[in-house]
Amino acid sequence: MRIDLHTHSAVSDGTDSPTRLVMKAASAGLAVVGLTDHDTFDGLAEAQAAGARFGVRVLPGVEISCNQDGHEVHLLGYGCRTDAPDLLAELARLRNSRSGRLLRMVQALNKAGIDITTDDVHAVASSASSLGRPHVADAMIAEGYVADRDEAFRDWLDVGRPGFVRRYSCDLATGVDLIHRSGGAAVLAHPWARGADAVLTPERIAALVRDHQLDGLEVDHQDHTAAQRAMLFDLGGRLGLVRTGSSDYHGTGKTNHELGCNTTRETAHRELCTRIQLRGGALRR
Ligand code: AMP
Ligand code: FE
Ligand code: FE
Ligand code: ZN
Repeated sequence: MRIDLHTHSAVSDGTDSPTRLVMKAASAGLAVVGLTDHDTFDGLAEAQAAGARFGVRVLPGVEISCNQDGHEVHLLGYGCRTDAPDLLAELARLRNSRSGRLLRMVQALNKAGIDITTDDVHAVASSASSLGRPHVADAMIAEGYVADRDEAFRDWLDVGRPGFVRRYSCDLATGVDLIHRSGGAAVLAHPWARGADAVLTPERIAALVRDHQLDGLEVDHQDHTAAQRAMLFDLGGRLGLVRTGSSDYHGTGKTNHELGCNTTRETAHRELCTRIQLRGGALRR
């Protein structure tokens, strides 16, 4: 049974509709797929309806944009009740902060000689519930300024580059608490990707388990080296965490992240669902 617990649809910065993503998951031989769009539950109802049609179980999820000591880190919430007011308010705050900086990003790029408009960004991301850097990157690709999102981030959109504009992100420990208060299970996404190992040290992760009952670690991810995966697997085992693996699929938005390229073991998936049930979360939205 193949299980992939971290994917993105065009509701955030993926490129497939939730229905198409679930269709592709069926073709890839996945029995379970987690839909974890950034800071929104908007794709879940459509994905679960498609799951019923195509014979794929869709685990409802969300990937929350968090901050740990000034580093952007990502937190996966699985099985959250989608009507929990404090979690909904936090997700809205994150989305508003992302979209709210769009004009300033475009103006900063204009000043640096990149001639794109907010309309260009809206045109490439019509179903996204908030427009962020990946969509600006897509507009730059459409206008011929860069070849792909990686180039756009590297030269224009990453911290310190001309188009970077800071936005709000949620304190990591607060994010874990919000997920738990909505009945969900909290899993650190790609904990050691993009230099985050500097802030998510083993001691820090242990403290999140001790003080905030963090549930799991994403171990198998394209952004982790084999050595990092081995260390995270070991650390997760020692801390009694659910250890997941996933593709972080973004459609054509990220190459080398095909559906099912990393998977989660059945025992880990079962443990995650048990934790959601014990917390009073929802496997159906
Ligand atoms: P934002 O929320 O607008 O700050 O944009 C952050 C998003 O950009 C997250 O979904 C990241 O996964 C994504 N991202 C960061 N670096 C890259 C990259 N090099 N290529 C594609 N997406 C990226
Ligand atoms: Fe993304
Ligand atoms: Fe992420
Ligand atoms: Zn992701």
